[in-house]
Amino acid sequence: DIFEMMGRHEHEQLAFWSEPRLGYRGIIAIHDTTLGPALGGTRFWNYASDEAAIVDALRLARGMSYKAAVAGLNLGGGKSVIIGDNRVQDREMIFRAHGRAVESLGGRYITAEDVGTSPKDMDFVLAETDHVVGIDGRSGDPSPVTAYGVFVGLRAAVAHKTGSDDLSDTHVAVQGLGHVGYWLCRYLHEAGARLTVTDIDAERIARVVKEFGATAVGTDEIYGVEADVFAPCALGAVVNDETIEAFRFGIIAGAANNQLARSEHGKALFDRGILYAPDYVINAGGVINVYGELHDWSAERSKKKAGGIYDALRRIFETADAEGIPTGTAADRQAEERIQNARHLQRSF
Ligand code: NAD
Repeated sequence: DIFEMMGRHEHEQLAFWSEPRLGYRGIIAIHDTTLGPALGGTRFWNYASDEAAIVDALRLARGMSYKAAVAGLNLGGGKSVIIGDNRVQDREMIFRAHGRAVESLGGRYITAEDVGTSPKDMDFVLAETDHVVGIDGRSGDPSPVTAYGVFVGLRAAVAHKTGSDDLSDTHVAVQGLGHVGYWLCRYLHEAGARLTVTDIDAERIARVVKEFGATAVGTDEIYGVEADVFAPCALGAVVNDETIEAFRFGIIAGAANNQLARSEHGKALFDRGILYAPDYVINAGGVINVYGELHDWSAERSKKKAGGIYDALRRIFETADAEGIPTGTAADRQAEERIQNARHLQRSF
């Protein structure tokens, strides 16, 4: 029952667009536009069923509403999915069809790249609609801004735990040394932190060992490192039944999306006294960067806005402490509160 699915988390709109001649089947989910137009990337994936695609689009759209709300952006949450094999060679027709689907919503939804899509695909979308961000040559690679947001968020977590955000005595275990992980290591090294790192790519490890004096460990060893902070910057679901037993960390603060395998793992971290910086709050630098693109911000201004992740997280940690709830729950409440307050304001005009 589609309306039941939409009603469960108050999604506003679910749009389907089909151009069978071109092999295009797309779904756009809009969760909430109270704070502004719904922004969220396009995922290109071979879903097992149409229902799986709908569920994913709805779930991801809602996540974007929360991310934008806590980051203090005037944006709502949306997401789109294209159903199919994302390795397809002839992409122009598919992404132009997607651009037409986005355009049909008249700006209520703004898209960007996501899993299975690239900035080049977004150029094809741009041929049909202006409601697309993350275009090559505009705001550029968001990763340095994301990494900066993770860096300040990690400092906020250390400050909450120890009373000081000086990182010179802090040992951080970084998993994943790609676009975000590399920049995070750079910021941490400059702040005097000690680094233990892992990746599946030997070259990336060698670079961080050479440039920042990091110690390298195997991909499975990272979970048991005796460090103050674990910064997951590779995969999702790294906080799970198995890894949690190995953790010696006091803090988890990293860029990866969907770090908790299940939401109960937030409670499990809370019960073990591990301070968790909710992923969608600490990694909001990416969405801040594309928001800057919409408003012609300079790179410096986007970075400054990402610096606000420090205070956002401090507030979440304090609420969680005061109410005795996991940090993820405190973050969700903060997002819901901002949206609710804006709704009340709108009604009173
Ligand atoms: P990336 O692909 O550039 O880097 C990921 C790195 O993880 C790669 O170096 C890869 O080799 C490594 N890796 C893969 N599997 C691994 C494993 N099992 N163990 C250790 N390392 C492994 O991606 P990215 O852009 O740096 O993003 C990292 C994470 O942050 C992703 O989860 C992404 O969704 C999230 N994120 C990124 C941004 C952004 O601006 N790039 C914004 C928000 C969230």
